[in-house]
Amino acid sequence: MSAQPSPSPRRLLVVGQGAAGLCAVVSALGQARRSGLNVQITVLDAASEADSGGNSRWSPSNIRLQANHQMAPGFVDEVMAESEGLADPDYFQQLVDQAPAMADWLVTLGITFLSPPYYLAKGPARIQPQGGGAALLQALRAQAQAAGVEWVDRFTLTEVLGDAHRVTGVVGTDANGQRQTWPADAVVLACGGFQGNPEMLHTHLGSAAKNFRLIAKGTAFNDGGGIRAALALGALPSGDWHTGHAEPIDPRSQGPAPVVLVYPYGVVVNAQGQRFFDEGAGLMHETWERFSHQMQHDLPEQQAWTILDAKLLTIADYSRAIRSDVPPVSAPSLEALAQALGLPVDALVRTVGDFNAACHGTPAQFDPTRKDGLACAPVGQPPKSNWARAIDQGPFLAWPLVGALVYTFGGVKTNRQAQVLSAHGTIHGLYAAGEVTGHFYRQAPNSVAMLRALVFGKIAGEQAVHDLLSQA
Ligand SMILES: Cc1cc2nc3c(=O)[nH]c(=O)nc-3n(C[C@H](O)[C@H](O)[C@H](O)COP(=O)(O)OP(=O)(O)OC[C@H]3O[C@@H](n4cnc5c(N)ncnc54)[C@H](O)[C@@H]3O)c2cc1C
Repeated sequence: MSAQPSPSPRRLLVVGQGAAGLCAVVSALGQARRSGLNVQITVLDAASEADSGGNSRWSPSNIRLQANHQMAPGFVDEVMAESEGLADPDYFQQLVDQAPAMADWLVTLGITFLSPPYYLAKGPARIQPQGGGAALLQALRAQAQAAGVEWVDRFTLTEVLGDAHRVTGVVGTDANGQRQTWPADAVVLACGGFQGNPEMLHTHLGSAAKNFRLIAKGTAFNDGGGIRAALALGALPSGDWHTGHAEPIDPRSQGPAPVVLVYPYGVVVNAQGQRFFDEGAGLMHETWERFSHQMQHDLPEQQAWTILDAKLLTIADYSRAIRSDVPPVSAPSLEALAQALGLPVDALVRTVGDFNAACHGTPAQFDPTRKDGLACAPVGQPPKSNWARAIDQGPFLAWPLVGALVYTFGGVKTNRQAQVLSAHGTIHGLYAAGEVTGHFYRQAPNSVAMLRALVFGKIAGEQAVHDLLSQA
C-alpha cells in the first residue's frame, strides 16, 4: 500500500521583522503546532540582518501596563477623548483585553519586565522589557529560527497580490533591485509607517516634514511600502494621515534617540531669542509631540534652544531626562550664553528678564514629577502653566533642540482580529499590525505604540493560521 502524500505546507508571509512581525511569526508557529497544520513561514524585510528590527530595535519599549500586566481602568475613554472621538473603541478595548495575555506569553519566552521610572515626570504606570526592544526581538527571533522559519533580507515590498476579497502573495525588489514574487496563502503586514519616506511625508504632513530628522537608524527603513501596497489592493485607510509621533532631540548628537526632556523646567526660545509656547502646559509626555511639530513646521530655522540655570542640577535624577551624549552649552551669565549660542544677546536677556519678573509663585512648590501649578504669565509672552521658576543662577545651561520623527499615524484599517478591511469587509488572508495600521489620531497615546505592535502582532499570527486551517 502506498503512503499518503503529506499535505503540502500552507505558506504564510510576514513582511517586517520588528516587534509586530516577530510576534506574528512566533504566535503563528504556536498556533500551527497546536492545530497540527503544516505551515511554511517566511519573513521578508527591507533591511539587511545587521540593520534589521526597524523602530523596535531602538525602542526602550515603555509599555502601558501595570506591574501585574493589567491596564489601568479608563484607558479606552482616555484614547477616545485624546483622539476627539475618532479612534476605534473596539480596537482599543481588544488591546486592553489581550495585553495581559500577551505580556504573560512574552514572559514564557524569556522576557523579564521591569517597572523603571519614566524620565522625571510621573504618569500612567508602565513596564519595560529588560534590555528594551533589542532584547524583545532577540528572544522572538531565537524562537523563530529554532523552528526553521525562512528569512529573506533586503526584500522591499512594493505590491500585495490578490484583490479586495483575498490575498495571493506579495511582490517586491530584492537586494539587486530585481522584481521578486512570493505567492502566499496568507500575509501579515508588519512593515512600519511611512516616516522613512520623504515624499509621503511631504504629501501627507506638509512640505516642512520632508526633512524631518528621524529618531533612530532603524526608523529610515519604514518607507510606507506596506501601506501603499495594501491601499492599492483595496484596503481602507485610517488613522491621522497629517501627523505622527515626534520628540525633541539634540541635533549635535549622532547617538540613537538623543532626547532632551528637561525643557519643562526652563524656557524654550527661537532664533530671535523669544519664547513661543507654554513649556509647562503638561507633563513632558503630554507636550513633547506638539512641541516637536511646532519646531519642525512653524519655526523657519526648525530649531529652538532650551535655557535653564543651575537649579536644574539640583533636581533629583535630572540626567535621566537627557539622552544626548553632548554636554549642554554652559556660561556664567545669560549674555555669555546667548553669545555662545549665536542668539541675539539683548533679546534673550530681555525674554528671560521679563519671564523672571513674572515668576511670583512660591519656589518651594516646585515639583518636577507632577503638574505643580507653579505658573506665571509674563507680559508679551506665552504663559507657563507649571514649573515656573526664575532663571537666575549661573551657570546658565542650554541645549539646541530639533523635532525628530518616530512614526506616522496614517495606515491601513484593521479590526479586532488584525484583519485588513476593505470597503467589502475583510480581505481574506491579509493581516496587519503595528505602525502599518492607522489607529492613532491627534496625538499618540503614551507608551502604546510598542504595546499595540506586540498585542496585534500576536493576534495576527494566530488569526492567519486559523485562516489557513479554514482553507485546508
Ligand atoms: C527611539 C525610539 C523610542 C521609542 N520608545 C517607545 C516607547 O518607549 N514606548 C512605545 O510604546 N513605543 C516607543 N517607540 C515606538 C515603537 O517602538 C514602535 O512604534 C514599534 O516598535 C513599531 O513596531 P513595528 O513592528 O510596527 O515596526 P518596526 O519595528 O519599525 O518594524 C518594521 C520592519 O519593517 C521593515 N520594512 C519597512 N518597510 C518595508 C518594506 N517596504 N518592505 C519590507 N520590509 C519593510 C523594516 O526594516 C522593519 O524591520 C519608540 C521608537 C523609537 C525608534
